Amino acid sequence: MIRRSPRIGARIATVLFRNYHVLAIESSCDDSAVCLIERTKDGRNRLVDHKKRTLNSAEVGGIIPSDALVHHLQNIAPLVREIMHENKLEKADMVCATRGPGMYASLSAGLNVAKGLAVAWNVPFVGVHHMLGHLLTPRFFSNGETPQFPFLSLLASGGHTMLVLSSSVVEHRVLANTLDIAIGDSLDKCAREIKLKGNVLGKELEVAAEEYLMKESSREFIIPQEKVEELQAIKFPKPLRNSSKRSNEVAFSFAGFITSVKTVLAKYPISNRDTQLILANSIQKAIMGHLVEKVRLACEVNSIKDMDFVLAGGVAANSALRNMLSDNLKSYDLNFHFPEVKWCTDNALMIGWAGVELYESAHLETDISVMPVAKWPLAEILDVDSWKPRSTPIG
Ligand code: ZN
Repeated sequence: MIRRSPRIGARIATVLFRNYHVLAIESSCDDSAVCLIERTKDGRNRLVDHKKRTLNSAEVGGIIPSDALVHHLQNIAPLVREIMHENKLEKADMVCATRGPGMYASLSAGLNVAKGLAVAWNVPFVGVHHMLGHLLTPRFFSNGETPQFPFLSLLASGGHTMLVLSSSVVEHRVLANTLDIAIGDSLDKCAREIKLKGNVLGKELEVAAEEYLMKESSREFIIPQEKVEELQAIKFPKPLRNSSKRSNEVAFSFAGFITSVKTVLAKYPISNRDTQLILANSIQKAIMGHLVEKVRLACEVNSIKDMDFVLAGGVAANSALRNMLSDNLKSYDLNFHFPEVKWCTDNALMIGWAGVELYESAHLETDISVMPVAKWPLAEILDVDSWKPRSTPIG
């Protein structure tokens, strides 16, 4: 049985001789983000400042890589200048940037600014794995104490859906992964099918599902009751259930929901708000239900018990998912960590903190000749070039 051990990796042990500042840059997708973190000599963290500008893709209905590149080229350097000026700092003591995975051009834009700064300031540079950043985020707010290794993370976003068991900063085992598209992608596309509008469509789906629940409890639907019941009775698929062997598969699959929504819409077109709300709720419930059921299966198969559990990635902000996880996984004695919504989506704090953990506890930094890695499995953090032992402890 895998369970939490108080002896392993409980805290970062580095003794610092002075406070130091970390400048971090995230640019793997459509968010240009920079932040300044202060590590105090007694091992505590302070977020000095964080700035983020997101590319507006609402009009085009998806992220166009060349537009994302232009967005980063226009924003990262000015954001760095702003954050340094406003916080009256001339240099930082370490620079971190996302090395991958992500869109190659977007990654290059942030990485190159970071490399230039590390050269100019003559300070260590750490190239960070984006997903590592997501799963270590809650440790920033506990100064590296919780979650304790080994712990579980569910990374659920527009690009990823994976359940990870982390034994140390650099050792991660993917217990379940998606066989097709990511959960966030599926939520967005289903939301678009039922004609919801907005920059973050998955969020609009959640809002519509909440509106449904309010109308349901007060019976405020405008369409006739029998129509409401007919729409409520629509069943969405339970993926990987088409044979007994597949239903035991520890994996996720989200592509089928989009096909199924299209089929439903052929019979029940969106002709009013009530239909839209009822379908939004059923779709969200089906997608989240599949995710939670497979996480439960992974806990069962791997004999997981009494462990910290981090929900990370953009979809982690969904409160229906948070509730379903807590309700359905009670018997595994999991201690849930839900980072503040702001830190669940892409940000630079997670990159700065993962850089600090790599530097202080894995004693690593990255050579300045580093290139982006667009595809970089989480289980292979150390299997890429350009890692080197850190030069000297800062301070
Ligand atoms: Zn992300």
